[in-house]
Amino acid sequence: MSELKEALSKEYYKEPAPIPQSDSPFASMMERFRFAADILDLDEGVFQYLSTPEKVVMVAIPVTMDDGRIEVFEGYRVIHNSILGPSKGGIRYAEDVHLDEVKALAAWMTWKCACVNVPFGGAKGGVRVDPKKLSMPELERLTRRYTTNMFEVFGPDRDIPAPDMNTNEQIMAWIMDAYSMKSHKNDTAVVTGKPIILGGSKGRREATGRGVITTTLAALSKLKISPSDASIVVQGFGNVGSVSAQLIYEQGAKIIAISDVSGGYYNKNGIDIPKAIHYSQTNGYSLEGFDGAEKISNKDLLELECDVLIPAAKEDQIDKDNAGNIRAKIIAEGANGPVTANADKILEENGIMVIPDILANAGGVTVSYFEWVQDRHGYFWTEERVNRRLNRMMREAFDNLFTVSEKYSITLRQAAYVYSIDRVATTLKLRGIYA
Ligand code: NAD
Repeated sequence: MSELKEALSKEYYKEPAPIPQSDSPFASMMERFRFAADILDLDEGVFQYLSTPEKVVMVAIPVTMDDGRIEVFEGYRVIHNSILGPSKGGIRYAEDVHLDEVKALAAWMTWKCACVNVPFGGAKGGVRVDPKKLSMPELERLTRRYTTNMFEVFGPDRDIPAPDMNTNEQIMAWIMDAYSMKSHKNDTAVVTGKPIILGGSKGRREATGRGVITTTLAALSKLKISPSDASIVVQGFGNVGSVSAQLIYEQGAKIIAISDVSGGYYNKNGIDIPKAIHYSQTNGYSLEGFDGAEKISNKDLLELECDVLIPAAKEDQIDKDNAGNIRAKIIAEGANGPVTANADKILEENGIMVIPDILANAGGVTVSYFEWVQDRHGYFWTEERVNRRLNRMMREAFDNLFTVSEKYSITLRQAAYVYSIDRVATTLKLRGIYA
């Protein structure tokens, strides 16, 4: 069991989506697009088309447990839209996964891929299970049966899963193998987030943090702030936070505060990030006891005066209660949903530029796309090539959204939805409705 826990908590790239909060996540998700649809003067029929998932599949997954009993789990896959290409989205294993949530997250993936010009549609999957209660063999049997039941849904040209909450490289390897056994060929491109030896991509672990920093550098240049003069605060020191901190540190910026669950660490002269990463990695992934800075609370950390604040921990960190106290010029959303909807308005009034999660942390899905491309070619790129192409796509995406935000005088978040919806709607217009 500890082996499984360790495997599930290992640092690796995921395609996690936000945790929807309302009782009806899908309805609230679509509500957020009304604004963009109004700006685009979207036809009511097209709005309805974009509000409706293309395919919703629910399967029973019987598993023979180690003690010989049969347990039946429920599995879902929702394809929100595939007009831009095969659909893409993670699979989460959690006891409280439910269809409405999966539908909302599938739609979110449509916008996320469209926003960075990745030629994929949006999907999401889930199984109602607490994987920590299963042994490794039980988890493998569950994954293989889920894959088999989804054989007509998944496919390199149809729908491509990836890791999300409580799923990892090993689970992707089992999906790839089970699918390939059924198709009688090596279909490595059917999932992304695989181990590199099975057709995963180099640069994947750092991809999300790298995208956060590419877009942050683009935003700094718009504000005419040189990275070497910039002061940075990073909340969360896991995969996204530590990679973001390291990459901007390499640009000469001064990282004045970092944090993790153990608290905040502040040094007005700048924190030695390589030292902090080494400390955390050799201290059970915790900054507790780090001596290169003075201890502050996570609340105070968010309210520090700085050029860039990178919330890279979890959702709902900046809400209506603390938004007015934020003294950053730029917020780059490394995490999913760190700023609540009612905080957005306050930040906008205070002239703070927010690089929305849908853009800022899309480096991960972009390198997933590269993984799929490499698998289909059977030719694997150097890390340098992956990073170069990632930087280019993220920079272009930022510039596109910036142009849209200026054109309509709207925030970058609103621009992200306007841009994505317009892209999907324009493609629909060209392709037409199949009759
Ligand atoms: P992680 O588990 O590696 O790291 C999370 C970090 O946040 C840890 O250092 C943890 O100690 C810290 N943390 C948790 N609660 C905190 C709190 N209240 N205050 C301060 N620090 C706190 O996770 P990650 O993979 O880096 O993901 C972070 C966020 O980014 C999540 O919202 C995730 O959905 C999102 N995201 C991650 C990826 C990816 O590729 N890993 C891609 C897109 C989005």
